[in-house]
Amino acid sequence: MSLFKSTLKQIKKASTLMELDEEMVSILSNPNRIVEVSVPVRMDDGTLKIFKGFRVEHNNYCGPYKGGIRYHQHVDMEEVKALSAWMSLKCSVVGIPLGGGKGGIIVNPKELSEGELERMTRKYTEMIAPIIGPDKDVPAPDVNTNGKIMAWIADEYAKIVGEEVPGVVTGKPLEVGGIEGRDTATAMGGFFVLEDIMKEKGMEPAKTKVAVQGFGNAGGIAAKLMVEAGYNVVAASDSKGGIYCNHGIFPDDIMKHKLEKKSVTDLGPHMVELHAKDDTDCYQVSNEELLEVDCDVLVLAALENQITEKNADKIKAKIVLELANGPTSPEADEILAERGVIVVPDILANAGGVTVSYFEMLQNASGRSWTRDEVNKKLKEIMVPSCKEVSLNMNKYNCTMREAAFITSISRIEKKIMQKGRV
Ligand code: GLU
Repeated sequence: MSLFKSTLKQIKKASTLMELDEEMVSILSNPNRIVEVSVPVRMDDGTLKIFKGFRVEHNNYCGPYKGGIRYHQHVDMEEVKALSAWMSLKCSVVGIPLGGGKGGIIVNPKELSEGELERMTRKYTEMIAPIIGPDKDVPAPDVNTNGKIMAWIADEYAKIVGEEVPGVVTGKPLEVGGIEGRDTATAMGGFFVLEDIMKEKGMEPAKTKVAVQGFGNAGGIAAKLMVEAGYNVVAASDSKGGIYCNHGIFPDDIMKHKLEKKSVTDLGPHMVELHAKDDTDCYQVSNEELLEVDCDVLVLAALENQITEKNADKIKAKIVLELANGPTSPEADEILAERGVIVVPDILANAGGVTVSYFEMLQNASGRSWTRDEVNKKLKEIMVPSCKEVSLNMNKYNCTMREAAFITSISRIEKKIMQKGRV
């Protein structure tokens, strides 16, 4: 099943529960605009390569289209459509006045030189420039894109329109209009939500074992926050594999090793040394094995479709926190729900990133800068009530947390559509 079909299934399920009008279901099931571009790039060896790129604008009923751009060899249109729909729902579940969009280029950026990456980014920007803008559609980082790439986009856009428009993208470096705390926002938002759920369930951090799949910006920082808050983070992995240490890992060490271009996998023996225990205590695990380790909270911070009908019955965690987009398939969702596993859905769990992107847009529009403490405080003020509202709907509709998040979000979008009289 394509990722977009999974999204449609999720929308349909929530719509049935809330008895949503069929016309509304159709609106939410069809992106407003789909753009496909062929991006010609002069490679370092003098040859010309064409890269396929996309930008999907799902809906802008609540505000400008908003969402990241990903560079990955497995990007396809159906994936970008799914991700754009999730952006609309994500912005709405936390009540920020933004719509949903997403972009992507089919490329493995690790195979490009810095110069090739920059030329590709600038050309892609030129090709989507007519549809983006601070009040139209605002891209941001996503898988394999970062502040530096956002700065190139903003610079290319400025050349095209003949003036500096920092608000055309978010997730920029601080020097060119970025905001403090955007780098940690996805992890921080997920952490606030998890803390709220833990409190509600009477679970204590010190007695909670956590496994983290994905050790990039979201997973790595989440692990660090959790260790600081007293959780026992026992496992971590990146795309090459991971490690399990029964008495806890040190996220800072793992980060350091990753920066030195080593994978989390290489840390198995290193961890044993650090803990000075026998080697049964720390061992290497594959990415698939990590999902099934003995833990209470499983943080999914890698890519989509990690828990499927094939492994859903083997997950030992009580809570699954989706910092990635779409890591649990609809079939797996059903199995986990039957088993009483709480899945904190992506559109809520990872909404911290886009929320701080919204703060960055406000900062760019007003010219005033916010401190990291101000950003984190404001973020908490948005994440915790949003989580509580989703929990209320979970009880009201007697449904899963994902269904409740969709209901919360869809009912807000529905109200906007009705008020605006768009249909
Ligand atoms: N790419 C991130 C997401 O999927 C952030 C999007 C944004 O900040 O616009 O939520």
